[in-house]
Amino acid sequence: MNDINEMSFLESVDRMFDDAADHIEMGDGIRHKIKVCNNTLTVRFGVRLRGRMETFVGYRSVHSDHISPVKGGLRYSLAVNQDEVEALAALMTYKCAVMGVPYGGSKGGLCIDPNAWEEDELERITRRFTRELASKNYISPNVNVPAPDMGTNELTMAWIADEYRRHSPNELNYWACVTGKPVAAGGIQGRAEATGRGVQYAIHNIFRTPEDIARTGMTAELKGKRVVVQGLGNVGYHAAKFLAEDGCKITAVIERHGVVYNEDGLDVDALKEHISKTGSIAHFEGATKFDEDGALGLEHDCDILIPAALEGVIHKDNAANIKASLIVEAANGPVTYSADLILKERGVVIMPDMYVNAGGVTVSYFEWVKNLAHMRFGRMERRYHEMEQTRLAKILESMTGKQIPDEFAHGFIAGADELDLVRSGLDDYMQSAYGRISKIWNTDTSVKDMRTAAYISAISMIANSYKVLGI
Ligand code: NAD
Repeated sequence: MNDINEMSFLESVDRMFDDAADHIEMGDGIRHKIKVCNNTLTVRFGVRLRGRMETFVGYRSVHSDHISPVKGGLRYSLAVNQDEVEALAALMTYKCAVMGVPYGGSKGGLCIDPNAWEEDELERITRRFTRELASKNYISPNVNVPAPDMGTNELTMAWIADEYRRHSPNELNYWACVTGKPVAAGGIQGRAEATGRGVQYAIHNIFRTPEDIARTGMTAELKGKRVVVQGLGNVGYHAAKFLAEDGCKITAVIERHGVVYNEDGLDVDALKEHISKTGSIAHFEGATKFDEDGALGLEHDCDILIPAALEGVIHKDNAANIKASLIVEAANGPVTYSADLILKERGVVIMPDMYVNAGGVTVSYFEWVKNLAHMRFGRMERRYHEMEQTRLAKILESMTGKQIPDEFAHGFIAGADELDLVRSGLDDYMQSAYGRISKIWNTDTSVKDMRTAAYISAISMIANSYKVLGI
């Protein structure tokens, strides 16, 4: 965890912002306006549980509403506090801008240990929290749209949507008040995997850009690379699973109770099942080694290190010991400002959080658009596309006198379903954003790292938006 002598998460984000803003010509007033958090709501509410009144503290922070609505996850953790929520809200602003997703930045949190409560208790707490936020206009399809984050999941989002519907019975677009919902309750295919899928696409993008992968000192072949993942939750599990499918070896996984190793590659699904059965990473049969000190796993020799749990885990005291050539920030803020300086000095390439984990908000955007359209993507075109492709296949067959083999015919003729379209849209957003970041990194010689390039891309976009708005 972050050393107490290091700056706070918010200060860390602000310093990274300042380093990048120094590269951009803009009025000083604009620079300050982009950086500061607009407002943070704190709510304290009671819920009668287990025979007594429990009081909970929650936050929803709006960092920037230069575009409406604002967007950002809702985190359930005992570590939630105002500084953390504001830092995460700022990152959301930059993340949406770097991706070109039309939202301002927001984030929320509830100071709670989700594992300490039964499901029905969590539902009552969440519904009460939703009423608090909705009554103060901090949840609405037009103004502020939460999503899952650490400690929350699609069930939490379904409770929020339902509670919001009761709160605003005349709101036609009530599903769009929150994203990351189950598919059966207004969600979209591919949202649960989206952030991990985005991490995979981000890694594909650096590996297919010769000048960028050369900076890591690694060969351009992803297959066979040794990967260490911290956190086997929503983001870490999907990222690890997809990279294993790409032929990477997941040589270590760090979780709450320690770290497991296997140089031949861990079976990610079997490990996930073991954790959900036993509640711990210890005693996993597929591991060759276990250590209670999970932090040591971050220093394990590997090619790619993916912190996918929480912020501040790579700090000034362990940055010098990191052996990975490439750090892929799947979590928000896993590398502190001081660690960032040390790692840069050592030539370690860091793919920044605002880009790497933006798959979640991107697919949330698709879900929000789907909710507003009241129709799933591809509904109008799918059969038409199939008809056209069938006609084309027949023309080809009659011209060549040969029949298209069945194994090709199906893939050629079938129209795209929602999941195909979501993955294709996500890939497009990830590739386009990467192109903009990589261009800045490779053309502006004063920009030494990918994080600064990403901040420059984001800040320029927001500054332009303010210029156009005339504020
Ligand atoms: P999650 O709650 O599903 O998973 C977090 C995992 O980290 C859990 O398995 C937990 O046991 C583990 N963990 C907690 N403390 C740990 C520690 N000290 N050491 C090792 N493991 C630890 O959360 P998530 O949604 O996967 O989010 C993880 C990170 O990704 C967060 O920083 C979050 O802000 C970021 N993120 C999530 C999304 C999303 O769509 N869920 C989107 C963007 C960014």
